[in-house]
Amino acid sequence: TGLAIGVDIGGTKVAAGVVDGAGQVLAEDTRPTPGDNPREVERVIAELVRGLADSYPAVPVGVGAAGWLDLDGGTVLFSPHLAWRHEPLRANLQALLQRPVLVANDADAAAWAEWRFGAGRGQRRLVCITLGTGIGGAIITDGRIERGNWGVAGEFGHQILVPGGHRCECGNRGCWEQYASGNALGREARELAAAHSPVSLEWLRAAGGQARDITGATVTRLALAGHAASRDLLEDAGEWLGIGLANLAAALDPGMFVIGGGLCEAGSLLLEPARHAFARNLTGRGFRPAAPIRLAALGPRAGLVGAADLSRHAS
Ligand code: BGC
Ligand code: ZN
Repeated sequence: TGLAIGVDIGGTKVAAGVVDGAGQVLAEDTRPTPGDNPREVERVIAELVRGLADSYPAVPVGVGAAGWLDLDGGTVLFSPHLAWRHEPLRANLQALLQRPVLVANDADAAAWAEWRFGAGRGQRRLVCITLGTGIGGAIITDGRIERGNWGVAGEFGHQILVPGGHRCECGNRGCWEQYASGNALGREARELAAAHSPVSLEWLRAAGGQARDITGATVTRLALAGHAASRDLLEDAGEWLGIGLANLAAALDPGMFVIGGGLCEAGSLLLEPARHAFARNLTGRGFRPAAPIRLAALGPRAGLVGAADLSRHAS
């Protein structure tokens, strides 16, 4: 009952799937996110949707986009990782696909899926963090996604944790996502390779010998296989994650944090140091409840599942 197509547009890949009313993914397809041209991204989205709609016709379409959406949901105001600048994404996709399309922020979509079907089911106040190319954030209160005054609430990835720190694509320095995202892992590993550190040999081998081809996924994969230096980088990222979550607990007091995105594949290698740093940095610790930190039950698929479900509710 109630099939819908969900698309998740991230900094590195576009994932699309047909999702049923219980949040199950029935069919799925992905493509790399094309570089600098918004038209190319739209073309890839349309191709993926058409491919799925061949077998599952006339279902609503929802898109979760890694960008800052205006309140009305039609325009991507800005995206740090994609070329969208005041981009009328919804109208463009509707023209290409000749059907209504719902557009949401990718982290909002993931949070929605986790609240409806996943680890955050039924939470009165849920904060969801997605760790991928960047860090996405979302707040759900009483079953509603909090969008803020202009639609861009929850951009936690760009809270400045290290003044003067690493340069961020958003234009600032020291943003959280420069320390706890897939990009951050990749940058650290590439830096070690550029410094000819012996710990970087495994990364170089996995990346075919080129330092520039080492990514966060390389690090995560090797960490899961037991590579010590990769585990160290995940531990560092996890610690930054926990510190950022402690800040969010101070501001928002959620009942639970759910962590999604590609990096959640690392599981406890990331979450254990995060939980430790969270407990160590939570303000008022010992005198207040501490929100549990859980992995997204839908894993990296949460974004597309949530986008599909949101489109079903909108139409
Ligand atoms: C963007 C967010 C997005 C997140 C995850 C951040 O850099 O500002 O809008 O949700 O990356 O893709
Ligand atoms: Zn930033």
